[in-house]
Amino acid sequence: MEPGNAGQVFPIFFAVWMLLGLFSAAFFFLSKNAALKRQVWPPFVVLVGILFLGFVWAMGFPLQTMYVAVPAVALITALNLRTMQFCDACGATVLSQNPFTKPAYCSKCGAKLNDSA
Ligand SMILES: [Zn+2]
Repeated sequence: MEPGNAGQVFPIFFAVWMLLGLFSAAFFFLSKNAALKRQVWPPFVVLVGILFLGFVWAMGFPLQTMYVAVPAVALITALNLRTMQFCDACGATVLSQNPFTKPAYCSKCGAKLNDSA
């Protein structure tokens, strides 16, 4: 695939992105296995960030775009890692309301979340 074909790459990007979103939402909100989710989440977030940058490159954006895209993706990845918590008591995926603080209690069952992640 030659870079610079935004018209060709975008539909692929969009389809892959939608599928990823759908599958990850299904897995992280339906699975009750907190330990497994805690294990899968960091590599998944990093992979999605790399995939996104790969698509930005494949769509043929100028190199300068990467100077903005790479820090932006790194920031979003770091925030995603911080805001997602997994409750050991009920297995729920708990999203922080404030991306700058970790949730302390499970929004489903009210159990205290440990900060081990
Ligand atoms: Zn819970």
